[in-house]
Amino acid sequence: MTGTMQAVVKTAAAAGSIAMQTLPIPQPGPREILVRVKAAAVCGTDVHIRRWNPWAQARMNPPVVIGHEFSGEVVETGSEVRTVRVGDRVSAESHIPCNTCPICHEGNRHVCPNTRCIGVHQDGCFAQYIVIPEEIAFVYNDPSLPWEQLALMEPLGVAVHGITDVPLAAKTVAIIGAGPLGQMGILTARLTGAARVIVLEPDRKRAALAEKLGADHVIDPLSEDPVAAVKALTGGFGPHVAVDFSGSQAGLAAAMQYLRPEGQLTCVALPDQPVSVSISDFGYRGCSIRGIAGRRMYENWEEIRGLLDRGLDLSPIVTHRLPLQEFAQGLDLTEQGACGKCILLP
Ligand SMILES: [Zn+2]
Ligand SMILES: [Zn+2]
Repeated sequence: MTGTMQAVVKTAAAAGSIAMQTLPIPQPGPREILVRVKAAAVCGTDVHIRRWNPWAQARMNPPVVIGHEFSGEVVETGSEVRTVRVGDRVSAESHIPCNTCPICHEGNRHVCPNTRCIGVHQDGCFAQYIVIPEEIAFVYNDPSLPWEQLALMEPLGVAVHGITDVPLAAKTVAIIGAGPLGQMGILTARLTGAARVIVLEPDRKRAALAEKLGADHVIDPLSEDPVAAVKALTGGFGPHVAVDFSGSQAGLAAAMQYLRPEGQLTCVALPDQPVSVSISDFGYRGCSIRGIAGRRMYENWEEIRGLLDRGLDLSPIVTHRLPLQEFAQGLDLTEQGACGKCILLP
């Protein structure tokens, strides 16, 4: 396809420096597909890129089209593409692993040290069109799933990775933080059979949404002692698993105290600062701590398919819709935490 498109570009290696530009429509290589973007979602990573924090500085080489969470319709496929067709409805894994290093060979592509990310290392989806490799496309051709929900598969996959790391069937789970990812975590915990879901969230609006999404108990950790409250709800023994979506020092430290013996603390959020916690009591109870990065390729994607087929409904999590030109407002809302997920419409 020839012609031009509108795209949101990180224009220079400095804070701010994001602008709408007219660019040529990209051309797919032999194993790539061209997607007309229908909906894109703003992520905290995009805010980090605007701020130009150390994470962004270490990875990006502007100019780059930003954005990595999207859905769209395939409009062109390269000559060697076999599994994706023109007209398919797709979302995408945002990580492109190298497939050749020892970590990839060990089956751990989600933590490949040579990973390239769309919207970071190469052009992303805050644009009318994006080219991606066939291998990261997630085809889901059920038209009853709205484009704005199909755009949320990448962050959903992180929540699914965190929640399913320990099987929750008939178990009790504590979910720390009910921002958009925590909200997806609550839905996933419910659909994967958790007996009880306890949510810790100080924000009133988010607490109310957590209840609506299926939390059995919502604790405000600022108005009551979270350790005592969680223990009281679990016969004094604590939940089998605590999944942290907050990155908060206090939230992590409390979880290490209320977790059940032999329980697991699963860390989805990445705290900005080092976190100080006491290992001894935690270790004495035989507990473990586990980091979560990206999505297991492609187990978590097949789990997403299962959840969607089961009727997973992400509509309560989408709170704002803006035309692509108003990307700056979407970044502002996300930075302030004033929204669920904010969708940009090209
Ligand atoms: Zn993201
Ligand atoms: Zn690799």
